[in-house]
Amino acid sequence: MNIHEYQGKSILKSFGVRIQEGIVADTVEQAVEAAKKMKEDFGSDWVVIKAQIHAGGRGKGGGVKLAKNLEEVKERAGQILGMQLVTPQTSAEGKLVRKILVAQDVYYPGASETKELYMSVLLNRSTGRNIIMYSTEGGMDIEEVAEKTPHLIFKEEIDPTVGLQGFQARKIAFNLGLEGDAFKEMIKFVTSLYKAYESIDASLFEINPVLKTSDNKILAVDAKVNLDDNGLFRHAEIAAMRDEFEEDPTEVEAGKSNLNYVKLDGNVGCMVNGAGLAMATMDIIKLAGGDPANFLDVGGTANAQTVKAAFGIILKDPNVKAILINIFGGIVRCDRVAQGVIDAYKEIGNIPVPIIVRLQGTNAEEAKKLFDGSGLKVYSAIQLKEAAELVSEVLK
Ligand code: GDP
Ligand code: MN
Repeated sequence: MNIHEYQGKSILKSFGVRIQEGIVADTVEQAVEAAKKMKEDFGSDWVVIKAQIHAGGRGKGGGVKLAKNLEEVKERAGQILGMQLVTPQTSAEGKLVRKILVAQDVYYPGASETKELYMSVLLNRSTGRNIIMYSTEGGMDIEEVAEKTPHLIFKEEIDPTVGLQGFQARKIAFNLGLEGDAFKEMIKFVTSLYKAYESIDASLFEINPVLKTSDNKILAVDAKVNLDDNGLFRHAEIAAMRDEFEEDPTEVEAGKSNLNYVKLDGNVGCMVNGAGLAMATMDIIKLAGGDPANFLDVGGTANAQTVKAAFGIILKDPNVKAILINIFGGIVRCDRVAQGVIDAYKEIGNIPVPIIVRLQGTNAEEAKKLFDGSGLKVYSAIQLKEAAELVSEVLK
């Protein structure tokens, strides 16, 4: 699960990480009130209006703007709220901005003394350990830094049995070229950041930029946080941060039926049991000249009910021109899958696209009988390759 910048920052703050303070707003009026409060609490005359969407690169897309007075707050908030923000990380249509963060300007006078750094905590899957990745080149596209100047990116791996050690935190502060108070602040920053990452079962914390202010404070200006869905049950207050508006509505619906669904851009809807088989099915569709419309794993315990839900979800996608059902009956029974498809078909009525079915394994014969007696027109295949070829044929 992903959360917004303002939510990520509130988590960081609760673990003692210094942040660029701000107040979230859904309307222009609230934004103006927030700016007044920022002045009372932090003495900030200038504020930054930041679009809250689940995508980075907001600055580049015009979703982060400085305001020098209340008039400008009103104007900028009005521009950003309700805009379709297009960034290098969104689709071409962009994302609707429904909330903004009114944040203190932390690049205050003496700006030549400020320095943008980069830091992230994530899991290194090949070693099974967390790493802290950091760089002196913050504020910009880190992928570009990695490509052009890889020697400016440092990595510190953490031994899970002992956690982040003091010498490692000092090494990080040293490599970032910090001295004096900023050096001490960085040690506190990275230690609290790592604690936050571990405590909430995050899979990514990316702070870009981490700012060294002109008065040598170290703070998080941005926060991108990904959480491990499997750990969410342990953190009710974080699970409640979910913003369904930011997610694909069909994926949200699929999640409610315990289906593993990812929407893609192609035209062949896929229903498969098992993630590995689903991946292979997508490959084979591609090989046969088609293009998968989705990834969908109905799971090992699929019953008529889940299959019905899955079928309904696939059909909601207007791009779908054919559906390929590929089920290996190991634990799941093929006849149950067939029953689910037939039930869905009867409920939805006329299904306007051809259905290609490959059911193998437990009760495959019974499944075939169910289909034959259903009046539902399906193309059956035995081999996966044959199924994929049928798909490209019916598409023609
Ligand atoms: P992103 O573009 O989605 O990564 O959003 P960020 O939160 O990282 O903000 C983008 C950029 O806005 C930063 O890299 C800064 O250059 C700028 N920015 C953010 N906060 C401030 C601020 O308080 N003052 C000024 N002058 N610029 C800021
Ligand atoms: Mn950023």
